[in-house]
Amino acid sequence: MKNISILGASGSIGSQSIEILNNNRDKFTLDAISVGENIDYLRKILSLFTPKLVCVKNKNHFDILKSEYPNIRFTYGLEGLFEISTFPSTHTVINGLVGNIGLMPTIHAIENGKNIALANKETIVTAGHIINEKIKKHNVKLIPVDSEHSAIFQCLNGENKKDINKLILTASGGCFRDKTREEIKNVTVEEALKHPNWSMGAKITIDSTTMANKGLEVIEAHFLFDIPYENINVIIHKESIIHSMIEFKDTTIMAQMGMPDMKNPIQYALTYPDRIFNKDFSPLDFGKITSLNFSPVDFNRYPCVKMAFDAGKLGGSATTVFNSANEEAVKLFLERKIPFLSIETLIYETLNSHSVIKNPSLDEILNIDRETRNFVINLYKTIKATH
Ligand code: MG
Repeated sequence: MKNISILGASGSIGSQSIEILNNNRDKFTLDAISVGENIDYLRKILSLFTPKLVCVKNKNHFDILKSEYPNIRFTYGLEGLFEISTFPSTHTVINGLVGNIGLMPTIHAIENGKNIALANKETIVTAGHIINEKIKKHNVKLIPVDSEHSAIFQCLNGENKKDINKLILTASGGCFRDKTREEIKNVTVEEALKHPNWSMGAKITIDSTTMANKGLEVIEAHFLFDIPYENINVIIHKESIIHSMIEFKDTTIMAQMGMPDMKNPIQYALTYPDRIFNKDFSPLDFGKITSLNFSPVDFNRYPCVKMAFDAGKLGGSATTVFNSANEEAVKLFLERKIPFLSIETLIYETLNSHSVIKNPSLDEILNIDRETRNFVINLYKTIKATH
């Protein structure tokens, strides 16, 4: 039995993790979970499992639930997230939180010797050098849940990292892949939220559409696998069947393939190094695949990918800024305050006006995160006022 805790249990990754645990009750125990404001879904989880600790976002929900479930211990707020991520009997913490909010719970988990199944890529992007240091110091495993990084992680089984020539991250290109920039100028939130292959939360779906997601994943890959940016490639592969590849020194390419289903990398992160049967998984049917397509990424069409490479190469606090600016800009788009292409403009302007700090401490990163968000909001207000 492996004891699991989940941060962000009601989100896309969290709810799919719950399904996996529910299908494998002989292998996993659910220790502790956090949910945001989706209390109806929490009640559904509590009809299936009795976790030892549950964290909700606000005090109001905490009060209601405490009287509704007298046998379960509840907690709330950021301190509550730390309690979930450090729950004593937990072996692996699934971090399915969205955005920078996932950083401190990850750090607390690592410092308390917990292994991490990481879906919260923003944690690595914003503070990769600090996370890597702490993983080493506390001797824990961090296993990627992101499908591309899970693919690379799997292709590395039995291989030597020093034999890698390059990483090839695949990208679907998002739902506007076949449209020109002119055609996507005035797209609505609803249109931008339709992902062709993957079913995911709102923030990451928008990130896929701008391809900021692939940019974040380039930075994530750099930190997870210690590969220079020059040796990371991105290609558009619209079928999302090959989840990513490694080219080794002898030009051999290893690719990891399968149906696009996030449950697959989530489960692998929990069962690693073993693989287990799951009745919900569909095998790939080669009789039905007529072709697999690949094309290079046009940086003019997808400037977010270029900006991520540039921020990564600059290093230091630049990746923190790329991430925070993107988060804030996506929020503004989802709130219908800015047009779709302004997401890119806001990131660009914010990155441009930032003076990079070489080796930022955790406090500096948290400060830069706050400053960056304020900068984006002020920029938006200024632009709005002048129109
Ligand atoms: Mg991904």
